[in-house]
Amino acid sequence: MSYEPKRADFSVPVRINLYSDTQTRPSPAMKEAMMAAEVGDEQGGSDPTVWELCDRTAALLGKEAAMFMPSGTMCNQVALATHCRPGDEILAHEDAHIQSSEAGGPGAISGVMIRGLPGARGIFSADTLRDAIRPVSRYAPAQRLVEVEQTANKGGGACWPIGDLKAVADVAHQHGMKVHMDGARVLNAAVALGVAAADVVADCDTVWLDFTKGLGAPLGAVLAGPGDFIGEAWRWKQRLGGSMRQGGMNAAACIYALQHNVARLAEDHANAAGLAHGMAQIPGIVVEMPETNMVFFDTKGAGLTAAELAARLRPLGVTISVSGSYRGRACTHLDVTAAQIEEAVAIMRSVIAA
Ligand SMILES: *Cc1c(COP(=O)(O)O)cnc(C)c1O
Repeated sequence: MSYEPKRADFSVPVRINLYSDTQTRPSPAMKEAMMAAEVGDEQGGSDPTVWELCDRTAALLGKEAAMFMPSGTMCNQVALATHCRPGDEILAHEDAHIQSSEAGGPGAISGVMIRGLPGARGIFSADTLRDAIRPVSRYAPAQRLVEVEQTANKGGGACWPIGDLKAVADVAHQHGMKVHMDGARVLNAAVALGVAAADVVADCDTVWLDFTKGLGAPLGAVLAGPGDFIGEAWRWKQRLGGSMRQGGMNAAACIYALQHNVARLAEDHANAAGLAHGMAQIPGIVVEMPETNMVFFDTKGAGLTAAELAARLRPLGVTISVSGSYRGRACTHLDVTAAQIEEAVAIMRSVIAA
């Protein structure tokens, strides 16, 4: 088996990086905040900057307590392990990140099963959830948790409307299940919906947000929920090796992101709308109109696979990601300007015409 990830080709510089909103570099001001951070031993509870980040995030999300972790994947895995016991069933969208992109962690770490629910744009309805509820019986797995993604990544960055989310959470709670939100981009949803983040997550028992998705930090995610839940989750964080030492340097970058990089997500959404509009004019490209910062598109009509389009763009300094044979994705973020979006559209047009 070959090792992954493959080493990037550094010989051709990437000028317009639409591969993902994870591709941002920490800004000089963010680095200064990191350099100035007061630090301690995060694992031992003596890093004041990590506590400050946790307090700020808990307040932002309207939850009692929060915990800093190295990645969003670890937030999901720790949350699932804390909520569930081996043999339990989790109900989630069939395209959920926990299902497709976490290396089988729910099975390997928590011993749980995931039942994938259908629904357009990564969102399932309360009726679909209700239909998936099993009668309580010794034959059936215990259904412990409903998981939702806000925004829905493979759903095109779609936002769960607050009312739909409440209806789903109500069904879950009526059946004794908890609701966990993969909030990798929950602040994109809050900005796009024009609703306070705490209101977006109010119906979820636990939620995390990623500081490396469009918020511009180099590392870190924060899981929030009830105090006793976070207390239990700490054992899993320790067990998986997620406890840190002078984590305050990274927490300082995240605090900087909360202070400076949240409201500006609206610019990314405007750039994504501009990109979608521009790409929609390219013959053969069918664009899914974005709600937030991700533009998914179909390349079939252009006679190219998404991978072929990506390979033709790369030597010209533009990167996109591939999400299916003919499905590509371009993401906007704070290191892509409106002028670069226009340039990227022109480059796409020219490679497709060639
Ligand atoms: C990126 C992402 C994750 C994982 O976060 P990492 O910080 O990369 O581990 C989880 N869920 C969704 C929806 C994501 O987009």
